[in-house]
Amino acid sequence: MNQKLAIQFPNSISLTIKREDLLHPVVSGNKFRKLKYNLLQAKAENKKTLLTFGGAFSNHIAAVAFAAQEQGFQSIGIIRGDELSDKIESNPTLQFAQECGMQFEFVSREAYRLKNEAAFLADLQSKFGDFFLIPEGGTNLLAIKGCQEILTQQDSEFDYVCCAVGTGGTISGIINSALSHQKVLGFPALKGDFLQDEIRIFVQNQNWELITDYHFGGYGKVNENLIHFINRFYIENQIPLDPVYTGKMVFGVMDLIQKDYFPAHSNILLIHTGGLQGIYGMNERLKNKQLPTIAIDV
Ligand SMILES: *Cc1c(COP(=O)(O)O)cnc(C)c1O
Repeated sequence: MNQKLAIQFPNSISLTIKREDLLHPVVSGNKFRKLKYNLLQAKAENKKTLLTFGGAFSNHIAAVAFAAQEQGFQSIGIIRGDELSDKIESNPTLQFAQECGMQFEFVSREAYRLKNEAAFLADLQSKFGDFFLIPEGGTNLLAIKGCQEILTQQDSEFDYVCCAVGTGGTISGIINSALSHQKVLGFPALKGDFLQDEIRIFVQNQNWELITDYHFGGYGKVNENLIHFINRFYIENQIPLDPVYTGKMVFGVMDLIQKDYFPAHSNILLIHTGGLQGIYGMNERLKNKQLPTIAIDV
């Protein structure tokens, strides 16, 4: 569903937000798109168990746990950080995943880095038996195929399509289905120059660019400015934004508009990729640091 924002900009720029966060009450946004064809494939291969990887507040972990339960799979989450094993109760994401029946395997950060190596996977196989593997963040060819369904024919009116970037899977699907007169802008939620190359593996089109100035210090990092922006945006537009991805992207787009980055009359589409479950965990961390929290009830 596309929702045009009522905000008036001086140079006739118009903003519309694609509410992918409303796709599903739990598996919202791009994680729903990324799982769609993976789940069909797992069924086609007659797999009973889904295994995947993620961090403590991962939207992907929450999505896989819920989708597995809904569709009759067992699920296993390999979680980064062995210090978390006795902190499930204080972590809303892990608690939710556990309630969905996900079984956890907590691994040290060092071990987690080896997760794509054959020996690591062989270990998991001997421990858990046969499973359908979904990579960290859910990005693979089937995920990108799902994300190619985010843009539709009705979206051809837009000049710019903006979305948040984590592993690059979502933007790859969007780039593949964008039209030649459109420009796709990606806003990485983390630091690092590797994303450009990751995305190039999956796309042919050249009409895209990464805007790397709005990661706010790195993955999962926020400041008071961002929190206030998210709270204000909610009051003014009744649209909740998550602090890890979409909040940073929308902040970035607003800032670029102020800086006259976009030509007059640009018709801009923002992709709301969901991730609202992350607000609970972020608010716990903000409270601990005695910082203002996100005043959104989702
Ligand atoms: C995972 C996620 C992203 C990033 O998607 P990638 O395909 O990994 O780039 C963006 N927004 C939200 C809300 C997410 O949960």
